[in-house]
Amino acid sequence: MVFDETDIRRAFDEGEFFPVFQPLVELRTGRLAGFEILARWKHKKFGAISPDDFIPLVEESGLIDILSRRLLECAFASPVLTGSAYTLALNISPRQLLGYKLPERVAAAAKRGNFPLDRLVIEITESALLDDLPRAQAVAAELKALNCKLALDDFGTGYSSLRHLQALPFDEIKIDRSFVNSMTVERESRKIVAAVVGLGQSLGLTTVAEGVETEEQARMLAWLGCDLSQGWHHGRPLPAEDLPRLVFDLRARSSAPLPPPIDGGDSMSRDVLPAQRLAQLQAIYDGAPVGLCLLDRNLRYVSLNQRLAQLNGLPVAAHLGRPVAEVIPSVFPLVESYIRRALQGEPVSGVEVQRPPEEDGREGRTLLLSYQPARDEADEILGVSVAMMDITGSKQTERALRESENHYRHMMQLSPHIPWVLNRQGEVTEASSRWESFTGQPLEEASGHGWQKMLHPDDVEPARAAIRLSLTTGDPIDIEYRVRRLGADWTRMRSRGSPRFDPAGEVVCIYGVVEEVEGQKQTSEELRNSQAELRAAVEAVPIGMIFAGAHDLSVYAVNPAADRIFHGTVFPGQTLAECGRLGILREDGQAFSADELPLSKAVLRGETVTGKRALYQRDGARMHLELSGKPIYSDCGLLIGGLMMVRERAPQD
Ligand code: C2E
Ligand code: CA
Ligand code: CA
Repeated sequence: MVFDETDIRRAFDEGEFFPVFQPLVELRTGRLAGFEILARWKHKKFGAISPDDFIPLVEESGLIDILSRRLLECAFASPVLTGSAYTLALNISPRQLLGYKLPERVAAAAKRGNFPLDRLVIEITESALLDDLPRAQAVAAELKALNCKLALDDFGTGYSSLRHLQALPFDEIKIDRSFVNSMTVERESRKIVAAVVGLGQSLGLTTVAEGVETEEQARMLAWLGCDLSQGWHHGRPLPAEDLPRLVFDLRARSSAPLPPPIDGGDSMSRDVLPAQRLAQLQAIYDGAPVGLCLLDRNLRYVSLNQRLAQLNGLPVAAHLGRPVAEVIPSVFPLVESYIRRALQGEPVSGVEVQRPPEEDGREGRTLLLSYQPARDEADEILGVSVAMMDITGSKQTERALRESENHYRHMMQLSPHIPWVLNRQGEVTEASSRWESFTGQPLEEASGHGWQKMLHPDDVEPARAAIRLSLTTGDPIDIEYRVRRLGADWTRMRSRGSPRFDPAGEVVCIYGVVEEVEGQKQTSEELRNSQAELRAAVEAVPIGMIFAGAHDLSVYAVNPAADRIFHGTVFPGQTLAECGRLGILREDGQAFSADELPLSKAVLRGETVTGKRALYQRDGARMHLELSGKPIYSDCGLLIGGLMMVRERAPQD
């Protein structure tokens, strides 16, 4: 059907033109931000006519300014729009922009409607700028002077010239619905939307996506950092009388912000702008003590941080754009399979790799690696993100710790002591497994106060009292009690412990050991007895005996027979050298050298000497002697001293 100017005038007169309002929603918060005013014509005979059909006619008939005014007046009559902070967007045809009257008319209508102009957005299509750019610039400047906002509509269609974007002081770019429509299925559309959002961000413009029909589209736009969203997903254009209900519904929906389109997007804070988010991420990336990089599908370095370059021993620039196999040829074969798995979509973490030895022969570093598939907004795998940590130090510490633990355990097993630890309540918290082998009581039962069951009933209370005392006074424990030994009778044991204090001087715990004493007492007593017997024998024999120690090469004992022979000239404390000068001569009358004396031979070299004839000259008289020497060894075979036996003999023997 074709309408002429008369039809249009009649429609104006009969009120067939009216506005509908479509909501714009803030993607980051889900909050209602404002409305776009869209013109509608409800023809009394033909019903709803599309604006794409009637707008050109209204323009041609020169009534387009009047239409805009009508729409604004109708909008300003709605308290929902005036009594709030919502923005209102008005579409302006190219011809309108070039007419001189627009700013003035807009200002007049807003004044009458009491609507602040900083909430009014004027939407312009690029075609408006083609005919007369200087004129368009002048009108735009006037609108800006009134505080109106300017939006570039349908961006991405037509010329999408960056010069146009720069030519007018735009506040917003509206991404055309043809891209939004296909962005979830077509990679190219997605890239264009991402690029336009990026462009808007870098120019400081608000980005608006048009024609958002699905949740999926909204999520993806939010993730890309788009600011506002408009489309059937949020609401159809509705007449003014439906606005209160629409606002109410949208408020109820806005409480939950949109989740990200794919897993993992969660980790980014939604409260910061995408550009800030990027800067924050960059700072984290650069400063991380962990090596990080992104590899593309061809296993080339797309990006990396300083730490990773350092771990690989090459500058950052030596990585970029080059394949891993070329940059780190010795390590690549060790990790290739993990990278390939990640490229197939499988995250691989906790991989420990020992690098080959360094050129200077040092052991290669130990690395802890993780490989994660890196995906784009549509979940397609773009490459692999790698995280790398040097764990050489902790590996060494771990090894050293394990070794020292082994040593300790070994020592504890060899020791006849049973170490124990008491907490500040006087309960055993730790004890050596020797307690179990000694008493037969399992360690679990011995903990707490359980060990007391193995004590002689008469000894329990004194033991408890000693512990209590130590816990209160901080004095060391030194007690004896009888313990029932596995398969045997009561065994006397000695338990000693010393408390450990906290900085306030309170006892934290008591460390101690238990050891068997009955046996020790016996052996030391036996030893004492046998020592006494020995001494008696040594003192009684009619043979002179001189004992010297290897540790200080001096005499430590002389028996009465030797004393008699040498008339007290040999005595404890004398050195071997001094003994050599006592006047003991060889049979030929020559002096023994100091180390020829059988005592010296035994002590110094462990030699046994028997029946050595010698002379001893004293007070002018000569005495004939027979000397023997014998080394003395300890139980474990150590030369600890020597003994010389001296016998007087008749000259003719
Ligand atoms: P536009 O400015 O790009 O307006 C958005 C168009 O997309 C509207 O079509 C709207 O109904 C439609 N739309 C909104 N959400 C969706 C969606 O989710 N999916 C789809 N497929 N479409 C959606 P409408 O109302 O038919 O308007 C068509 C065009 O007419 C407008 O495009 C605008 O250029 C023009 N127009 C409308 N009102 C006026 C006006 O008052 N003055 C001027 N000069 N032009 C107007
Ligand atoms: Ca528009
Ligand atoms: Ca549009």
